[in-house]
Amino acid sequence: MISSIMPTYAPSDLTFEKGEGAYLYDSNGKSYIDFSSGIAVTSLGHNHPVLIKALRNAVDKVWHLSNLYTIDGQKDLADKIVKNSFAETVFFTNSGAESVECLIKIVRKYFNHLKKPEKYRIITFEGAFHGRTLATLSAGKQKKHLDGFGPHLDGFDQVSFFDINELKNSISDNTAAILLEPIQGEGGIRVFPDDFIYQVKELSEKNNILLCFDEVQTGIGRTGNLFAHQRWDLSPDIVATAKGLGGGFPVGACLSTAKVAAGMMPGTHGSTFGGNPLAMAAGNAVIDTILGDKFLEKVVNLGEKLKYYLNKIKFRHKGKLEEIRGRGLMIGLKFNDSTEGLVDLLRNNGLLTVPAGDNVIRLLPPLVVEEKDIIKACNIIDEVIKNWNI
Ligand SMILES: *Cc1c(COP(=O)(O)O)cnc(C)c1O
Repeated sequence: MISSIMPTYAPSDLTFEKGEGAYLYDSNGKSYIDFSSGIAVTSLGHNHPVLIKALRNAVDKVWHLSNLYTIDGQKDLADKIVKNSFAETVFFTNSGAESVECLIKIVRKYFNHLKKPEKYRIITFEGAFHGRTLATLSAGKQKKHLDGFGPHLDGFDQVSFFDINELKNSISDNTAAILLEPIQGEGGIRVFPDDFIYQVKELSEKNNILLCFDEVQTGIGRTGNLFAHQRWDLSPDIVATAKGLGGGFPVGACLSTAKVAAGMMPGTHGSTFGGNPLAMAAGNAVIDTILGDKFLEKVVNLGEKLKYYLNKIKFRHKGKLEEIRGRGLMIGLKFNDSTEGLVDLLRNNGLLTVPAGDNVIRLLPPLVVEEKDIIKACNIIDEVIKNWNI
């Protein structure tokens, strides 16, 4: 008989009763170091006092208002994002896929607005993940996600992970935008090389194509910058973000320049829940904390420490562990063969991680993780790999 929960996931029986910082506790009181963060969501860890206080205050006021009214906290959060990024305007959503959907719509609307409706195609990269709605699935072009859900949405072309010539050759008069994750998350913490990105930027300018980043996973401090693309000191046209923004509350955002969003007039897009007062309270608390004194500097330092310990482990397990990659606190352990069963083993030993493509185990600790937790987690990883026979 089918489960009352539609079985699109096959979850472990494990459930948690309490969370505190980088730790989760099951019903037997057993503790787990949480290096999954609900897949890069609980950026401030569990039970963060600032987040709790902000939400408690918001709960005592008005829970929900339609965007037909001015919503408390929305302008605050939008202003902070604008002040600290390339963006001049922000649309609030409830999820990553919705943020990417909004991005796709802005791209199409921009060229329509310019009376160039023939420019609508978006180039994406092999290994991409942009969400599970029909448009974002069509953008990601992952066969395993698309199978059975045709017909797919037209308007997306895909090229190899980084091959500048293939990218050049795929640009046509119909190309409107290039969309990429600064570091592919689901694809296996695959980092685009810096010089490739500069070439992409140049190509996009030369061909009048929009440069768009999917920062749903890399955004909001995860890689040590507020947005991962900021390390390149270049200005994109549109950026989608979500996961870490609400610290566990569902909230996303689509950021744009004023020029590119010029067609997004009243009535062109909308969301019942997007920008809801509770979501804005959570988003403001997260952003204030992340933009606080030395917070991002700490993320960079902790990321370097994590990489340092992991590289030592890699050295001890040559032949199994091939590469440590990623940036900030978005790190991948790349194995030379299937990692099947490894996430379960790590979990049984008290460490929560996330699988990814390309034989990679993802480590996404909360941004407030401490070095002692990193050392503990690395000891577990070391032991588990030692006893793990492929
Ligand atoms: C998770 C993710 C999404 C989809 O986010 P949802 O909130 O699950 O819709 C889109 N893009 C990237 C890069 C992601 O990591």
